[in-house]
Amino acid sequence: MNTPKADPIKPRVAVHKFSSCDGCQLAFLNLGEDLLTLAGRVELVHFAEAGPLDPDTDVDVAFVEGSVSTAEDLERIQHIRQHSGLLIAIGACATSGGIQGLRNGVFGENWVTQIYSHPEAIASLERSTPISSHVKVDFELWGCPVSGPQMLAVVNSLLLGVTPRDNADKVCTECKRRGYPCIMVTRGIACMGPVTRAGCGALCPSLGRDCYGCYGPAENANTGALAVQFRSQGLSPEAVVQRFQSINSQAPVFLAAADRIRIKSHD
Ligand code: SF4
Ligand code: SF4
Ligand code: SF4
Repeated sequence: MNTPKADPIKPRVAVHKFSSCDGCQLAFLNLGEDLLTLAGRVELVHFAEAGPLDPDTDVDVAFVEGSVSTAEDLERIQHIRQHSGLLIAIGACATSGGIQGLRNGVFGENWVTQIYSHPEAIASLERSTPISSHVKVDFELWGCPVSGPQMLAVVNSLLLGVTPRDNADKVCTECKRRGYPCIMVTRGIACMGPVTRAGCGALCPSLGRDCYGCYGPAENANTGALAVQFRSQGLSPEAVVQRFQSINSQAPVFLAAADRIRIKSHD
């Protein structure tokens, strides 16, 4: 890693985009006044979505949105790692391969030719993979998208020289702390909250709908017990597989859960 030419008072920060929808960068932009305050405390040297463009420069902290999905992504992530003090992966695309990871294992000429009139123009790799599959990642922020306040908390921790807090507890804990009625218990709606990582403030249950797992697997996620619960609520094995094969389909815990259900349903 090169030594960043940093002003010791103002760390140099870059925000890079890989294969993604830009939603996590928008979470940064949507910080509004907080972003302006932040801009006064760091030197934002590269953030295409916000204006500054200098993707090749040395930085103290690089935020990376998106998955590695093309040959060009493969080269670029190595370059960014070499030129960054800390590398933080933000969002489901960067931490698990994202929704585009649904193609993993089924990528082939067949469906590419069925979907695209010029399949020769598709330059995607067979698999969409998280940033940590290719380079060392210092911290991961999960979510689709990540929440702005969470990103701000990470930056503030780094500015104070402390390790950002990794909240890998379950969405259910946030639900309970905020006093939301459990929609799985009261309304019989299948909810991924018991196996999903906290951080969103139980956003979906607060609006009366189920969690669909966009923050990825929580620590000690008991996916087997939740699958049994879903089946007892009348979901077919295929429907249960789909619950685990969504935005974070390639997260190993969710992938393994889906595989177990598939194997069991064929016994
Ligand atoms: S994690 Fe979700 S919101 Fe963020 S870039 Fe990927 S698809 Fe977009
Ligand atoms: S609504 Fe979902 S997240 Fe909330 S307590 Fe019930 S199962 Fe957990
Ligand atoms: S409740 Fe679940 S699906 Fe909704 S934002 Fe939170 S983690 Fe994502």
